[in-house]
Amino acid sequence: MHDNDTICALATAPGGAVAIIRLSGPQALPVAVALWHGQRDLATTAPRTLLTGNLVLPEGEMLDAECLAVYMPGPHSYTGEDVVELQAHGGSCALRLALEFLETHGARSAEPGEFTRRAFLNGRLDLTQAEAVCDLIQASSAQSLRLANRQLAGEFGKQLQDLRAKLEDILAECESHLDFPEEDLDWIPLEELHARLEQFQSRLWEWLSTARAGEILRGGLNLAIAGPPNVGKSSLLNQILGRNRAIVSPVPGTTRDTIEADATIAGMPLRLIDTAGLHHGADDLEQEGIRRSQEVLAQADIILWVTDATTEPTPLPQEIPAATPVLALANKADLANLKPGDTRLPVCALTGQGLDKVYAALEKLVWDGRDSRETDFAVSARHAALLREAAGHLQEADQALRLEQWELAAISLRLAIAVLGNVTGQTVEPDVLGKIFSRFCIGK
Ligand code: GDP
Repeated sequence: MHDNDTICALATAPGGAVAIIRLSGPQALPVAVALWHGQRDLATTAPRTLLTGNLVLPEGEMLDAECLAVYMPGPHSYTGEDVVELQAHGGSCALRLALEFLETHGARSAEPGEFTRRAFLNGRLDLTQAEAVCDLIQASSAQSLRLANRQLAGEFGKQLQDLRAKLEDILAECESHLDFPEEDLDWIPLEELHARLEQFQSRLWEWLSTARAGEILRGGLNLAIAGPPNVGKSSLLNQILGRNRAIVSPVPGTTRDTIEADATIAGMPLRLIDTAGLHHGADDLEQEGIRRSQEVLAQADIILWVTDATTEPTPLPQEIPAATPVLALANKADLANLKPGDTRLPVCALTGQGLDKVYAALEKLVWDGRDSRETDFAVSARHAALLREAAGHLQEADQALRLEQWELAAISLRLAIAVLGNVTGQTVEPDVLGKIFSRFCIGK
C-alpha cells in the first residue's frame, strides 16, 4: 500500500437512495473529471462548491444523468489530500461501473479505514481522534456517542500531548544534571520534581479510572438474567425490551436455551441474556440449557438474580461466580409484599413496576457511584494498557529522582514519553496502525 497514490471507494452503504463515491490523493481531481462532467469546471470553480453534472463513460455510456460533485483540495480536507466526492443516485450497476472506471483510470480501491488512516498520517487527526471516528460509527447508545464525539474533538489527545511536553521538561532537567553535574545551574529543586511526577501519575490514574466506563460504553455490558424456573425471567426481559423478544410460558423450564437481545438502559449499551432456569433434576434438553446458562453466567458483567416475591429469598446458587456483582430482584411483587429486612428489589415483570429502582441500582453498580456523564472521556482498553505502562515508568522515574540517579530517571522518563506517544500515535508502530484501521469499514 502506498500512501501517495489516489484511492477511491463508496462511502455510503449499498442500497441507499444516494451514494457517495469518495476519491482522495494527488490524482483525485483529474480522475474524477474523467467520469464526471458538468457545465461548470470542477477544477476552476471555488473549492467546496457543490456542482451539478453527470457521470458518463468516455464511449458515451451514461451512468447517472444527475450527479453532484464537490472538490476539497488538500490540506483542508478530511484526509489532508485532494478529495473529490461524487453524490450519485444509489444503484448498484451504475456504481459498480463508475468504480471500475475510476479504478482503471488512476485510482485504486481503498482499504478499510484508509481515508481516516491518511487523515492521521497527514496530521489532520491524532490516533485517539481516528479511533473516535470508529467509536462514533459503532456507538449504540447516547452516552457512547457523546464519548466518541468528545474524543473526536481532540481534548484527550491534547491533554496527553501536554503531559508529554511536561515530561520532556523534566527529562531535559535530568539530562542537564548528567551533562553538567558540576555546574551551579538554576536547578529545579528535587521536591518540586517529585511533586510534579506525583501529580502526573495521579492524572494517569484518573484517566485509568475511566477504563471500565470506556469498555462498557464501547463494547456494551453483559447483563445476565438468572433465577429458578418460572419466576418470570423471560417476562422481565420482555418488559425491559418493551417488546416480545423471549418466549413467555407458565410451564417451568420453557426457556431451554439462552436468549440475547441488545438494549440501552440509562444510556448504557447492554446485552441482555435470559438464561434457562437454574434447577437440578431437569431432563437432558434442560440440562443442556442449564449448562449454557452457566457459561453465560461465567461471562456476565452483572447478574440480575430473580426470585419469586411470594417465597423467601434463597441463597445464591454456586453457579453464580463469586466475583460478579449481583442485583437480587423479587419478581411478582404484585402478588406479595416483601417481609421487613428482605433486601431484594421488588419488581413486577407484567407491569414494569419497580424497574426504575433496578435501573438506578444498575447505574450505580456500573459507574461505581460516580456520574458517568461527568467524565470528559473514557479510555479504551488500548489506551488503558499504555497508560498503565506509562504510570509504571513514572513511578520508576520518581524513585530514581529521589536518589538523584539522573541516568535511571532519564531512561524511565523516555520510556514513559514513548508509551504516551503510542496513545496519540506520535510514535506508533505500523502494525498497531494496521490493527486499529482494520476495524473500520471501507470508504471511511
Ligand atoms: P421464567 O421461566 O422465569 O422465564 O418465567 P416466565 O417469564 O415464563 O413466567 C412464568 C409465569 O409467571 C408466566 O405465567 C408469567 O405470566 C408469570 N409472571 C411473570 N412475571 C410476573 C409478575 O410480575 N406477576 C405475576 N403475577 N405473574 C408473573
